[in-house]
Amino acid sequence: MKAEIIAVGTELLLGQIVNTNAQFLSQELALMGIGVYFQTVVGDNENRLREALRLASSRADLIVCTGGIGPTQDDLTKDVLASFLNHQLVMHEPSLTKITSFYEARGTHMVESNKRQALMIEGSEPLMNETGMAVGNGLSANNNHYIVLPGPPSEMRPMFTNYAKPWLRGVMQEETPLRSKMLMFGGIGESMLEERLIDLIGAQSDPTIAPYAKEGEVAIRLTTRAATEEEANLKFSSVEAEIRSRIGDHLYADKEMSLEAAIQELLIARGETYAVAESCSGGRLSDLITALPCSSAVFKGGIVCYTNDVKHRLLGVPMEVLEGADAPGAVSAETAELLARGALQATGANYAVSITGVAGPASSEGKPVGLVYIGYADVHGRTHVQKRQTYGNRESIKLRSSKSALYLLWS
Ligand code: ATP
Ligand code: MG
Repeated sequence: MKAEIIAVGTELLLGQIVNTNAQFLSQELALMGIGVYFQTVVGDNENRLREALRLASSRADLIVCTGGIGPTQDDLTKDVLASFLNHQLVMHEPSLTKITSFYEARGTHMVESNKRQALMIEGSEPLMNETGMAVGNGLSANNNHYIVLPGPPSEMRPMFTNYAKPWLRGVMQEETPLRSKMLMFGGIGESMLEERLIDLIGAQSDPTIAPYAKEGEVAIRLTTRAATEEEANLKFSSVEAEIRSRIGDHLYADKEMSLEAAIQELLIARGETYAVAESCSGGRLSDLITALPCSSAVFKGGIVCYTNDVKHRLLGVPMEVLEGADAPGAVSAETAELLARGALQATGANYAVSITGVAGPASSEGKPVGLVYIGYADVHGRTHVQKRQTYGNRESIKLRSSKSALYLLWS
């Protein structure tokens, strides 16, 4: 479902108030799995509001209006929406009673225009206003869904949460459900992945193909409407096969899961274990791994070998490799391999990976910030080293190099 938010109010355009309603509604709709494609702001003007409604109705399935449902003459939202949809405005009697008894109880005279707040667009569901007077509306018409909410956040928020959301859930349940499938990739950046799939992404409308990037991992979400999982999988199969044929060598899972979780699942199935030696990542990799329940079944342990002294004493890297005018240095392919082998030996695991690099902000050994060597060693005597240039601040270099190490282990 594509949504558009229309915030109505000239004071928004004048910059007198900030459009916090749109922020709140965008967050809430996102949590419900509804994508907000546009946020519009329009003044209290009949023609421009009508134009905004026309445009929104042409490009969104759900249009949420806030503001302009109070008692005064500049409050036009319900009038304009009703006339746009060719619906009448009708009186919502419970709201009218609430308004009149409010004034009666106070013994004050009620201005006639206050009754306008109890008007509803014919055929709509009333959305109760527990903190104010104007009743809201939920309405399905012309293949679109419309929600009308008041402007004051103190009224709009509880109305959305307590009335609009349940109404919207009901509307969504009646529709064929959206189903999606995640494909998870490692060792490839988002831009590279997009480049290889650009024609597919551009051409495909059902299922839709949406790439998502996290640091060190990229996901593709395939989405379609289908009554059952089987029907959805059938619709996914040909596009999934095409994606696999192009970047399948980077695919590590066909459901939403992290790289470390995929490795854990694989090693549990094989009854094997692994260990890590971390220099510049400072334990970040071990932290990722041990964040998973049951990691002790496969993870033997990690050594944070931050200084050359520890690389030498605990993992057996010769000082001649680490230091000296002609030495490769701590940040080198040689050291990465020796660290992986050292970790393998020290822990008795089946596999070991190592990370050594420059996390910054200053360069080290004359090597640039972000340069990282990832080492791999296994019990069959195989070793491998990968050199990577990563970018970002310390935190992101630590995370990215950890993910690279996991990917090297995976592949
Ligand atoms: P009222 O009964 O108060 O007239 P209304 O539904 O007609 O309510 P508006 O007249 O558009 O709403 O706005 C009333 C007040 O609500 C504004 O002065 C402002 O304080 C707040 N408001 C309106 N729209 C927004 C918005 N998009 N974001 C944050 N606050 C808003
Ligand atoms: Mg108003």
